[in-house]
Amino acid sequence: MQINSNFDSGNIEVIDASSPQQVLLAIRADLNSAHFQWFHFQVSGLQPGQRYGFSLGNAGQSSYKNAWSGYNAVASYDQVNWFRVPSRFENGALNFDIEPLHAQIWFAYFEPYSRERHALLIEDAQRLAGAELFACGKSIEGRPIELLRISRNPQAQRKIWLIAQQHPGEHMAEWFMQGVIERLQQRDDAELNALLEQADLYLVPNMNPDGAFRGHLRTNVAGRDLNRAWQSASEADSPEVYFVQQQMRAVGVDLFLDIHGDEEIPHVFAAGCEGNPGFSSRLAALDKEFRDQLMAIGAEFQTTFGYTPDQFGQANTTLACNAVGLEFDCLAFTIEMPFKDHDDRPNPHTGWNGARSMQLGKDVLSVAAAMVGKLR
Ligand code: ZN
Repeated sequence: MQINSNFDSGNIEVIDASSPQQVLLAIRADLNSAHFQWFHFQVSGLQPGQRYGFSLGNAGQSSYKNAWSGYNAVASYDQVNWFRVPSRFENGALNFDIEPLHAQIWFAYFEPYSRERHALLIEDAQRLAGAELFACGKSIEGRPIELLRISRNPQAQRKIWLIAQQHPGEHMAEWFMQGVIERLQQRDDAELNALLEQADLYLVPNMNPDGAFRGHLRTNVAGRDLNRAWQSASEADSPEVYFVQQQMRAVGVDLFLDIHGDEEIPHVFAAGCEGNPGFSSRLAALDKEFRDQLMAIGAEFQTTFGYTPDQFGQANTTLACNAVGLEFDCLAFTIEMPFKDHDDRPNPHTGWNGARSMQLGKDVLSVAAAMVGKLR
């Protein structure tokens, strides 16, 4: 049996593989940071039908300890179809067993969104009507941060921004962006046409490619949490945020969505900027309408579970949502999808996954279309 994590978004250390029924593993910390939670590895040379057991021994010391109860690891034989493997959080370790059907299998914290897929997505996006690679930033390690613009009406007044995967282990975020881009391929979509009549879309499908490639949970290679860098972005240690902020200041923002995953809460939810000092009754009404509409159209979304709302004036403005909402006096949300499942509509076989993240991306465009005329 061989265990390998030397590939895109791979992360695991082998502690002791001498017993196939109890392979001891550990998750590596992010470079220059103590954060860890994301894992992704391949096991090959398996005997189909034989039982294997894996134990991630340092799970209990990870960034989000409550993430492991009610969590099941994901696995795939082909890196295309991912399914959940019943997992147990016991004595600080995440344990799972499998009798594999094939000689090799991949395990991960969530269905990974690969760099290869990212490259195809950027190509596909540029073939959309009205689309262009509007600008391109660079990560610390020199990977591109693509900013796509979709503009179909030169008179469109509104600028809608969606950015994803500031936290590199939150791969559901780029799946969401793939859903957005897929829907933009539909030419006879009345809602979408109405949206693009009034607004240009600015999309950053992956804000943290270095972290994603290296199998990080939370930070870029300088150890910076990009979603705490929006009041102090610099070209030296957070060029990813610096680039997007410069572009936003040149273009303007009328609606901002920052796409994330939450390790602990088994629901899809949104966090707004109600704690901002500039949060007005106008923004409060827009905030409520956005959430209400997303539920009303039947999206996998709810408003019962989520983060405790900030008190007025108490917002942490180093977060993208709060920083952008404050600077541009616009409706802004962090959209959170679960690593576990959306317990309002559970699916034990897949849990929350890439396909459901994509559908949420498509659904959010319907709400943007319904509200575009009211954003200012
Ligand atoms: Zn996040």
